[in-house]
Amino acid sequence: MTNTRVNPTIQRPRRPRTAAAAAGVVFAATLVVAPAGAEAAEFPVFGLPFAAGQQTGSAGIHSDDGNNGVKNAIDFNPDDGIVRAPLAGTAHLQHCSAGDWVTIDHGDGWRTGYYHMENIKVTDGQQVEAGTELGHIGNALPCGGNSTGAHVHFTLWTLSGTAVSTTAADPIAAGNWDGVSYERLSGEVADALGVAVDGKVFGGWRFNEGPNQYGGTATRVSDGFQVTLPGWFRYDG
Ligand SMILES: [Zn+2]
Repeated sequence: MTNTRVNPTIQRPRRPRTAAAAAGVVFAATLVVAPAGAEAAEFPVFGLPFAAGQQTGSAGIHSDDGNNGVKNAIDFNPDDGIVRAPLAGTAHLQHCSAGDWVTIDHGDGWRTGYYHMENIKVTDGQQVEAGTELGHIGNALPCGGNSTGAHVHFTLWTLSGTAVSTTAADPIAAGNWDGVSYERLSGEVADALGVAVDGKVFGGWRFNEGPNQYGGTATRVSDGFQVTLPGWFRYDG
């Protein structure tokens, strides 16, 4: 039978009461924001995709194709022109008829992409650390698209979200984007696997998209200093 006698000496320790649990109204508000908080907790601690201690230009936040869809892209052109891994992971070369571009898988399904690079320095399957040189900003168009002015088109993806195809064997859902045209990648694939950079922090800067393409803001988390994009800011790491 169930022992209903209250005996503090054998009860399991209670969890400390939180402020939220102690106040009904606050608790209700906490429930509303819980999913966003959970997502933020899982987002990796990224740097920016270039070395600290320099200025970078950014053409702003935009969708992968620059026209519509989830705004999962930020363009950067750091002073030294060198693109570096913002976090450890496994680099992949995505091959197209006119050359290669690079993605990095960082674990838990998080992937970043680096388009328009020239003089690529990593090999397919290479383990990279934060700061490993990936290549140089450029105007390369291995799978299509366009570029005016050397930069890296930095993109955010998740391979653990809704797949393009429900079949587990689908190479695109599994992250092999060899031969996928930029038109398809920035359309169908970005719709399924692209993750908005809005509200995400890279290198201590929080990026927020604007209503239009190639806009938004970069805000230094440490002091709230904000730059309107397109614009320039200094990355201190
Ligand atoms: Zn771009």
